[in-house]
Amino acid sequence: MNDTIAAISTPLGEGGIAIIRISGPMAFAIADQIFISRRGKPSEFPTHTTHFGAVGCNDDHVDQVMLTVMRAPRTYTAEDVIEINCHGGLLTAKNILSLCLQYGAQHAEPGEFTKRAFLNGRIDLTQAEAVMDLIRSKTDRAQRAAVHALEGHLAVKINDARDRLLTTLAHIEAHLDFPDEDITPDTREQLLASMQSTLEFLRKLFATAHEGKILRDGIAVAIIGRPNVGKSSLMNALLGQDRSIVTSIPGTTRDTIEEIANIRGIPVRLTDTAGIRKARGTIEEVGMQRSRKALRRSMLVLYVIDSSHPFSAGDRELASHCKDKQTITVLNKIDLPRKLILPDGFIRERCVEVSAIRGDGLELLKDKIESLTLYGVGTTLSEFDVAVNERHADAIRRAIEALVGAVNEIGRNASLDLVSQQLRIGLDAIGEIVGRTATEDILNKIFSTFCIGK
Ligand code: GDP
Repeated sequence: MNDTIAAISTPLGEGGIAIIRISGPMAFAIADQIFISRRGKPSEFPTHTTHFGAVGCNDDHVDQVMLTVMRAPRTYTAEDVIEINCHGGLLTAKNILSLCLQYGAQHAEPGEFTKRAFLNGRIDLTQAEAVMDLIRSKTDRAQRAAVHALEGHLAVKINDARDRLLTTLAHIEAHLDFPDEDITPDTREQLLASMQSTLEFLRKLFATAHEGKILRDGIAVAIIGRPNVGKSSLMNALLGQDRSIVTSIPGTTRDTIEEIANIRGIPVRLTDTAGIRKARGTIEEVGMQRSRKALRRSMLVLYVIDSSHPFSAGDRELASHCKDKQTITVLNKIDLPRKLILPDGFIRERCVEVSAIRGDGLELLKDKIESLTLYGVGTTLSEFDVAVNERHADAIRRAIEALVGAVNEIGRNASLDLVSQQLRIGLDAIGEIVGRTATEDILNKIFSTFCIGK
């Protein structure tokens, strides 16, 4: 980490400003070489101040810029940092970066600034991951969860679990030091109780992985129904704007259309299927295959029926396609006189009456989508204000396994040595989450998914 790194931290393209970031021991020396101002040199400026000037060599100016000086350790990386705000566009930032490299900086790897923040102890691994979650978040809810993790709330929970395990381990090891003294039944009970409570805590944390995944990756929802029942209209209504073309000619949505809607803070990938029915032409066949695929991949199906028509053979055939899927039956067109009589077998709680055109019933439908996808599994985000990712969940799973092992050993009066071994395995697994015991492989895997300049 003795290198000084530099990168363009803003997306490449035309825009108002672009930012070049330099971090490391030579950051100020490099800035001194390339920043031209009558007011002095960056290395002489007070920390956390911004200055107007030019960037270039001698009289050859690349751009007029604002340069910010940030001295270690109160910086993003905890190293000396310089940030240069230049005009946006493709060339200017690149040319300024080239100058930095020319004067000794190394081109930063993806995520290297954040990796340095972690290696320098300013943030833990959950916070580093939260940076990327924040950048990638697609809904307010996902964004809030990421900020929460960035502020260290997840780390607090993990460290809490770790402290509990450490206390139990310390207790056990104290006994190991005096092997002649028998452990009393009371102590055994105490140890068991504390391990059980840590287990419960870890299980709760593990249960948030489902929500974490939903908030990060979203869920796939397929809209199926006969032609003309109002699938496209429903999709548009859920998207909140006109995206797919609505027509009254049956069978015009030949292909599948996919859009991302924000439903109660969940990124929902809606697929309007072509209607799974007997295909006539090749185009329809392709559409049908895609529909089937969309149906297979979906976590939830919105099965749309036209309530202004009697239940038809087509409706029945489609219903058979959602047999194995979590399904909400949407009775559309309730603004028209009702002709539909739902056959037996439809669960009332899984039916919602809507008018895609007028908007009636849409809020109820959104509530149903939210509750079926997010809260179907136990804890909710509001109950437990953090959500773990897959990496955390995997580590927690291993910690739970080890702890269950330890509880069993204690239960059958096994030697404390075995118990302490299991606890250590659990501790290591928990430590991986915040980065105390993370290997180089884990770090590389995490930071390689970052963008350059972050
Ligand atoms: P799709 O073939 O299932 O995608 O159906 P569309 O969304 O293209 O809708 C077919 C026709 O039904 C269009 O003329 C829509 O305007 C109409 N439609 C859709 N939803 C409603 C509704 O809630 N009420 C009424 N009255 N008409 C609707």
